[in-house]
Amino acid sequence: MKYEPVIGLEIHAQLRTRTKIFCGCSTAFGAAPNTQVCPVCLGLPGALPVLNRQAVDYAIKAALALGCQVQQESVFARKNYFYPDLPKGYQISQYERPLALHGGLDITAGGAKRISLTRVHMEEDAGKSLHEGFPDSDRRTYVDFNRSGVPLIEIVTEPDMRSAAEAAEFFSCLRDILVWLGVNDGNMEEGSLRCDANVSVRPAGQREFGTKAEVKNVNSFRYVQKALEYEIDRQIDILEGGGRVVQETRLWDSAAGRTFSMRGKEEAHDYRYFPEPDLPPLIVDAARVETVRLTMTELPEARRRRFVAAYGLPEYDAGVLTQSSALADYFEQVAAAAGNSKAASNWVMGELLRTLNDRGKTIDDVPLTPRALAGLIALIDKGAISSSIAKDVFAKMYDSGRTAEDIVAEEGLAQIGDESALLSIVRDVIGRHADAVAQYRAGKAATFGFLVGQVMKGSGGKGNPKLVNQLLTRELDRSS
Ligand code: ADP
Ligand code: MG
Ligand code: ZN
Repeated sequence: MKYEPVIGLEIHAQLRTRTKIFCGCSTAFGAAPNTQVCPVCLGLPGALPVLNRQAVDYAIKAALALGCQVQQESVFARKNYFYPDLPKGYQISQYERPLALHGGLDITAGGAKRISLTRVHMEEDAGKSLHEGFPDSDRRTYVDFNRSGVPLIEIVTEPDMRSAAEAAEFFSCLRDILVWLGVNDGNMEEGSLRCDANVSVRPAGQREFGTKAEVKNVNSFRYVQKALEYEIDRQIDILEGGGRVVQETRLWDSAAGRTFSMRGKEEAHDYRYFPEPDLPPLIVDAARVETVRLTMTELPEARRRRFVAAYGLPEYDAGVLTQSSALADYFEQVAAAAGNSKAASNWVMGELLRTLNDRGKTIDDVPLTPRALAGLIALIDKGAISSSIAKDVFAKMYDSGRTAEDIVAEEGLAQIGDESALLSIVRDVIGRHADAVAQYRAGKAATFGFLVGQVMKGSGGKGNPKLVNQLLTRELDRSS
């Protein structure tokens, strides 16, 4: 029997604010344990939280980029549970009324597909239990509260993914967007981005979902994929053996390459959520949403689509040109100045990227201005220089900073469009290549290309190709 996996992800992303979500302590990673703490993030009695405005703006930004509806009013809630790294005995999160609803993200693995989102909400991170690295780690666990109160957003997807590969791709695309926006540093080793993967399997064709297991805190794309692959196989084996999957929370052991049970349904927490009495509802008006929207640069995916639609570029070109925003900006400036977007794309993707690559440079170091490259394209479009000469001019411009016009004028590189000058070269070539001419006349059309090449060579690469073709055809046909 065939089985189909069903996967939904819950992703926690630390926001890149300088200070924590409810106090002024630093969020910098790697400081000595418990040096970035205060009564608020240590949960001392009587300390009151004050919401970090920047954290809210970052959360709004992420929500907008993910196509979510930002809610005008959302509510912080206490999620009660006991754990040594949670000094207050509750985490401040959002529950019934999250910051943002709906939205989605497109992935491409195995065909384009949209993964819908359920919600994006704000919450605080917990401290960190250190089970290893101390002389008495066999007997003791230490706690570092520097992470306590670092702002997080949690992004929850609908159960829309159908393979481990799709889930890994979703996670990776999401990371790219959050990093591009500047709201998350994407550093998964430091735990800035973590994924809880929910997975169930069902017999192919069955409508109802199977019972899910949740694999907690997986912190790399590869591990998300591997943990899910393992879990899918495990659940299929259970069903094949006539058993039932139990609802539980599991952990991924990357060394062993397997998941293991952390707690079952019976031990599941009852968080007894209730609205946080120390914080008023969070009000985000339309003006604030618009202000945040204005700080957003166009996302790579949207820009790629616009390049195809507005400039008529092939998908491939659009993909290459939107690999970085600096490259995309450069291309747009060349296209605007040259008034020829396909030529701009060819030159940026071709000679420019090749030259940067050869010299181990990036677009940020490019010495050639977009206007200068546009000047070269304009000379080609006017028919003033041939495209092979243009490549030499490009190399000279790149190194000297001179304009294409100057180089062409000073070095006599202008295309020969003068019929009598080219005609004598054509006649000379026909005279010197009797064999090729005979072959051409015997019907071997490929020889024509060779003869064109000879004429171009004779003209120092400056012959106007169209005219060379015309003259050569005329002369060959005339004397046959
Ligand atoms: P819970 O109440 O256990 O937290 P939720 O309904 O909030 O469950 O869903 C948590 C995550 O699990 C979401 O990403 C959701 O898409 C996913 N999910 C829900 N049901 C299933 C299922 N049967 N199989 C796989 N994923 C599921
Ligand atoms: Mg849930
Ligand atoms: Zn603090």
